[in-house]
Amino acid sequence: MGLSIAVVGSGPAAFYTAAALIEKAPDCTIDMIERLPTPFGLIRYGVAPDHEHTKNVMKAYGRTAQAPQVRFFGNVEIGRELSLSELRGLYDAVVLAVGAARDRPLGVPGDDKEGVIGSASFVGWYNGHPDFVDLAPNLETKNVVIVGQGNVAIDIARVLAKTPEEMARFDLVDHAAQKIQSAPIEDIYMIGRRGPIEAKFTNVELREMGHLVNCNPVVDASQLPATAEGEMSDRDRRMKEKNLATLKGFADAPADSAKKKRIHFSFYAAPVAVLGGSKVEGIRFERTAVKDGRAVGTGQFFEIPCRLVIAAIGYCSAKVPETPFDDREGIVKNADGRVEPGLYAVGWIKRGPSGVIGTNKPDGEACATQITTDLTPSAKAGRNGLENLLRARKARPLSFADWQVIEKAEIANARPGAPRRKFPRVAEMLAVLGAGAVAAS
Ligand SMILES: Cc1cc2nc3c(=O)[nH]c(=O)nc-3n(C[C@H](O)[C@H](O)[C@H](O)COP(=O)(O)OP(=O)(O)OC[C@H]3O[C@@H](n4cnc5c(N)ncnc54)[C@H](O)[C@@H]3O)c2cc1C
Repeated sequence: MGLSIAVVGSGPAAFYTAAALIEKAPDCTIDMIERLPTPFGLIRYGVAPDHEHTKNVMKAYGRTAQAPQVRFFGNVEIGRELSLSELRGLYDAVVLAVGAARDRPLGVPGDDKEGVIGSASFVGWYNGHPDFVDLAPNLETKNVVIVGQGNVAIDIARVLAKTPEEMARFDLVDHAAQKIQSAPIEDIYMIGRRGPIEAKFTNVELREMGHLVNCNPVVDASQLPATAEGEMSDRDRRMKEKNLATLKGFADAPADSAKKKRIHFSFYAAPVAVLGGSKVEGIRFERTAVKDGRAVGTGQFFEIPCRLVIAAIGYCSAKVPETPFDDREGIVKNADGRVEPGLYAVGWIKRGPSGVIGTNKPDGEACATQITTDLTPSAKAGRNGLENLLRARKARPLSFADWQVIEKAEIANARPGAPRRKFPRVAEMLAVLGAGAVAAS
């Protein structure tokens, strides 16, 4: 018998770890434990619905999930059905791949008002994540302010700006489609505290904003530097120059008066307070200047009236119980992935919330090497032990085959041309399976 390994989570980091383990230790068993009934983490619940091509990686992950070494235990949460120490008692190695899908707060007075929503919640809502079905954001507003200038901010702006026809081929969930597409939104402000050179969005995503059917991108040319100055790699400079060229193109293009919405790319402004009573009525910004790469206040202020503020300023992880947790960084403390003997971390819980899907691959490969170097198989109970424990706790683990039944129902339910219609509630997913979803086999 080979090593018994439990991977907690089923996002990209979990799948790259499992794939690398299969390669390096083909006699191992890998049990993937996921709190939701559905696999794939942010590929399913983060990546924008209209970027379906990005979700193609799910096919490769599906092949890994069906390898003979791997078993998927969906609907099982570490910290709910069983604790991390119990899991560690059962397996030679436990790999934490739980991601970092919590919002960083805006951190200004008024950021707790109704109508201030973090991007993790908002994206989760329009992507049908069960945790956010009942979010009910107030979209009865002409202006929406998105604080942040990364690709997540762009995703949100684009989803708010696209027409029903532009979204028809995608799986924007019904509750979000109805609200977004009947909303009176006209102006979407994407505001960053620093300048266009510091903005984190990538060029493909930025260029896409110039091709929307009912929305003009708006840029103030006076905020654009002539070139990308400052210390950076040649690769970064090329990317920044491309972004500058795209933004200049937006600034120079005459507004198409047939388009009813506008996305304002606005730089050099830091939020200082969310305005209103218990609900958001606006947001106040201070103009900034960038000095040594940092935004410094200039003492000039302006306000934007709005009923919805979306903070897209980054993600963090919830504290993972029974681990040495770094509260400041929002990650599990680790030395290149090693946390404690037999405990490892990969992906966003290891490195923090940055990078693209592929950035998680080297984590998985390094982790598989560490596990096969550090450990030899023991007599721990492994998969049998987990199954016994879950049975004793009357848990309802779902297998990958169960997930495929849910997926099939989602595909059968889809609007014509759309890839799937997600069930946003766990109870709806379990209902698809009827009574047959008890054994994880
Ligand atoms: C809004 C958004 C859009 C993005 N779009 C793109 C894009 O278009 N292209 C791109 O390349 N990258 C994109 N990314 C980045 C990419 O999604 C991440 O790099 C990647 O998902 C991180 O992988 P992960 O496995 O660490 O975490 P996750 O994908 O978050 O997976 C973590 C998994 O762990 C599970 N879990 C959490 N806690 C527990 C527990 N206690 N017990 C059991 N399971 C648990 C979660 O349910 C989840 O399934 C996007 C990110 C975000 C936030």
